[in-house]
Amino acid sequence: MAGGISIANIEKAFGATRVLSGVSLDVREGEFLSLVGPSGCGKSTLLRIIAGLERQDAGNIAIAGKPMDHLLPRERNVAMVFQNYALYPHMTAGENIATPLVMSRLSLFERLPLLGHLSPRRNAIAAGVAKDVRRVAQQLHIEALLDRRPGQLSGGQRQRVALARAMVREPAAFLMDEPLSNLDAKLRVHMRDELSELHRRLGATFVYVTHDQVEAMTMSNRVALMDGGEVLQLGTPTELYARPRSLKVAEFIGSPT
Ligand code: ADP
Ligand code: MG
Repeated sequence: MAGGISIANIEKAFGATRVLSGVSLDVREGEFLSLVGPSGCGKSTLLRIIAGLERQDAGNIAIAGKPMDHLLPRERNVAMVFQNYALYPHMTAGENIATPLVMSRLSLFERLPLLGHLSPRRNAIAAGVAKDVRRVAQQLHIEALLDRRPGQLSGGQRQRVALARAMVREPAAFLMDEPLSNLDAKLRVHMRDELSELHRRLGATFVYVTHDQVEAMTMSNRVALMDGGEVLQLGTPTELYARPRSLKVAEFIGSPT
């Protein structure tokens, strides 16, 4: 299920530091939208607010038309992919991918370490999850890596595992926070193509945070340029490049001036 994201008048401050001053933005269902802007302009904060990992001071988030503001992160049907992969080091790749899915399918009782094993449903759930893990592992070409721990994987392989973990729950939207920034330049270019391909295949909504304007301009349907706690301009890569609304936009995008 895909869903657009409506971001309305989001405000956020950390103490005296105002980070978002009324950000409004509609992410269309199924589009690849990049949030770009200089370091510290609030991109990660906005993404975390959409995911429910951070609470806004004012404004509203809705996904697929449904208000999100009272919902916990796991109730929002979005998956977050982080720059540092955020994998559990003591679990295998396969377990890392399976864990959120197992948790979402087990009842509260069944999650209890000892009592849970008494549940007759548990084996069936585990078998179903194993099948889903194999399916996404196949799509991302990591089937041979499922028994390895993160420490035994390269950066690119870890990022694929993190993507698989996000995909396995079939979220309405993927929220990605600089997912390629820890990879070397060559792999980064390769993974760009893979992510674009993945987006086409899944048809899901992607919100992609990056400070790399080339990445944003080549991968996105639309780009939102943020600075000073606001969206300065939102448009297709061509629009931003050819018709920057201000000098700041032109400079960031690298338009001819
Ligand atoms: P970006 O992702 O665009 O680089 P961030 O959203 O991470 O920017 O941060 C925006 C601003 O908010 C920065 O000045 C940062 O220091 C501040 N900030 C982010 N998270 C916190 C936090 N938990 N506590 C205090 N300040 C924060
Ligand atoms: Mg950030």
